[in-house]
Amino acid sequence: PQLDTFEALLDRVSKKQKTTSAENIGLIDALIKSFEEAQGSMRSGSQSVLEALGQLQTKTKQTQDLCSQSYKDYLSDLNGLQKHIDGSFQELQMYQTRGWAPDNAVCDQVISDHLYRVGCFDIGELHEREAGLKENPSLQQPFKEMYQVLEELKKKELKPALDWCAAYSKTPEMNSSQSNRLHELQFQLHKLQLICMLQRGEKGEVIQYVQEHLNVPHHQAHPSHATEIRRLLSAVLWAGRLEGSPYGGLLNDALWTEASYLFTTVACSALGLPKDSNLAVCLAAGYLALPTLAKYAQLRPKFRGTQCELQMPDFGPELQFHSTFACPVIQQVSTPTNPPMLLPCQHVLSQSAINSLVKAGGRLKCPYCPNDCTHDQCITLHLYNHSLSPSATSPPVTQV
Ligand SMILES: [Zn+2]
Repeated sequence: PQLDTFEALLDRVSKKQKTTSAENIGLIDALIKSFEEAQGSMRSGSQSVLEALGQLQTKTKQTQDLCSQSYKDYLSDLNGLQKHIDGSFQELQMYQTRGWAPDNAVCDQVISDHLYRVGCFDIGELHEREAGLKENPSLQQPFKEMYQVLEELKKKELKPALDWCAAYSKTPEMNSSQSNRLHELQFQLHKLQLICMLQRGEKGEVIQYVQEHLNVPHHQAHPSHATEIRRLLSAVLWAGRLEGSPYGGLLNDALWTEASYLFTTVACSALGLPKDSNLAVCLAAGYLALPTLAKYAQLRPKFRGTQCELQMPDFGPELQFHSTFACPVIQQVSTPTNPPMLLPCQHVLSQSAINSLVKAGGRLKCPYCPNDCTHDQCITLHLYNHSLSPSATSPPVTQV
């Protein structure tokens, strides 16, 4: 809400700035004109020099008053904006943890990263310069490439995206989830290419394209891809007249939006980044979700025992997070089958690490402090909410 007000105020001030400057230029033009007229009348002798100068003096004074009045109005609007910004920042500071001083250089870097990540390259460069950060064009380059491809996708140009995939598929150190997502993206792009051909009525080309690009094991063996390929081939019967046919759904623009979204996810993952900007996720979690949850926690006890139960605020999937735990002993991220466990000394290890540390007699010594305990004293920690785990039906969950 503060940002909305800020935008409205900024809009008002910038409009005011434009009208003020136009007004003042008009006033000065009028003044110049009266000087020229006075010069003319003095030359022709129709007015005495003293009389003309007196009139000019009055006119100049009037113009000065008018200009300074409109400038004052503009300044008071500008002041309002300034006060609003100061007020909002005070409110933001309330959320800061006591005793935590932000490192400005780190914050500036995070802001620059965010601006490049969301494709605001000019503003990012300006910010980098003004913050005195070392210019690092290599930070922008991968995002520039990503946005070039996205721009082309907006124009329904698929070649840059397909070329990008072909180049990326040669990456040697790709893990299985990355290569699965890449195959999915390639499939969606080929599908869109086929839809374009179907729209143009190119029947023979469609069949040839499927043979050339989709006749590969990872698409043929994929259950939903195989079905989709059959569906696209059946649509050849309606090539050139898809609209109103049983295959009209293929013309839905949402397919293009989904492909762009998938491309962003794959391209970010290729850079070792999550699909959302870190700063955007932090702000959404800390500035939107956390205060709401804090209020909920504060109010909930008051409703306990009453008839109306206070509902947990519903944030939607983009604001649902789950923690991850990496076991310091086995150096692996815990999973539902190997969950983290809390020792009585409050240190946490993975279940398999604890199992391997248990000595004869059932006791184990904590690797991080002198305490020892029995296996029974360790408590399993549940970090995973299975209803939130990413799957085909539920939207992806952001990891922090
Ligand atoms: Zn310990």
